[in-house]
Amino acid sequence: MTAEPRAASGPAVSTFPILLYHRIGTSSRSARGGEGQRFDVNADAFASQMDLLAASGRRSFAISDLLPCREAAATTVAVTFDDGTADFYRTAWPILREREIAVTLYVTSGLVGKSYLGSEMLSWEQLEELRDGGVEIGAHGYHHIALDLVSLERAAIECINSKLALEDRLQRAVTSFAYPFGYHTDPLKRLLPKIGYSSACAVKNALSHPRDDPFGLARLTVSGDLPARRFEQLLSGNGARMAWDGERPRTRVWRAYRHARSRTRRFEH
Ligand SMILES: [Zn+2]
Repeated sequence: MTAEPRAASGPAVSTFPILLYHRIGTSSRSARGGEGQRFDVNADAFASQMDLLAASGRRSFAISDLLPCREAAATTVAVTFDDGTADFYRTAWPILREREIAVTLYVTSGLVGKSYLGSEMLSWEQLEELRDGGVEIGAHGYHHIALDLVSLERAAIECINSKLALEDRLQRAVTSFAYPFGYHTDPLKRLLPKIGYSSACAVKNALSHPRDDPFGLARLTVSGDLPARRFEQLLSGNGARMAWDGERPRTRVWRAYRHARSRTRRFEH
């Protein structure tokens, strides 16, 4: 939390939160265990957060709709979900729909209809229903692997196949991507527009802003233990750093450590 964002050194810039959720009201906590549990948000807590969001005066956007409107940052917010677990359909979507909150769902294409690490994944039928209900469906890789630890060719295949699988089944253009675990590289960022993506979400746990990198959009992870007061602070555009350009040194150090560990952990976040 020590690095200052480059964008923060200029004149004051309006910021907005792109919220990142994983599982809501999941019943498989004991099955998954470990670090992933931190990102499970209780259904009542999620409903309260969405009440706060609806009352905040900010307008919610799907990521593809957000990109052209980022100048209105002071009145903007986005809600995103990663992975494509079935609890989204059962628990999160009814809460969002009731409040008319736009949402982008990033789906791990190769896991649709399966069970993975104790989590039931969305089915194609559920995804079709969500598509028809106005949910933006984005890609989240095909196998949910860390794309910065594999060759650029392998990473490109993941990005292409995840997009094609969703488009083939859902008959809808898929132009939004979210990096599994948030991990990405500059060569991959340059490749994504050539594949047909118009944006990609990272994590960064920072506030986004109109000049934020469209292929490294900053998001704020909402964990299960996030206090309501802190959530309100984020909604007001405070309480977190502003997104920075490029990669911080400690990110490179962390990648070197993960390389050395020589195995990727799936569903860490
Ligand atoms: Zn993920």
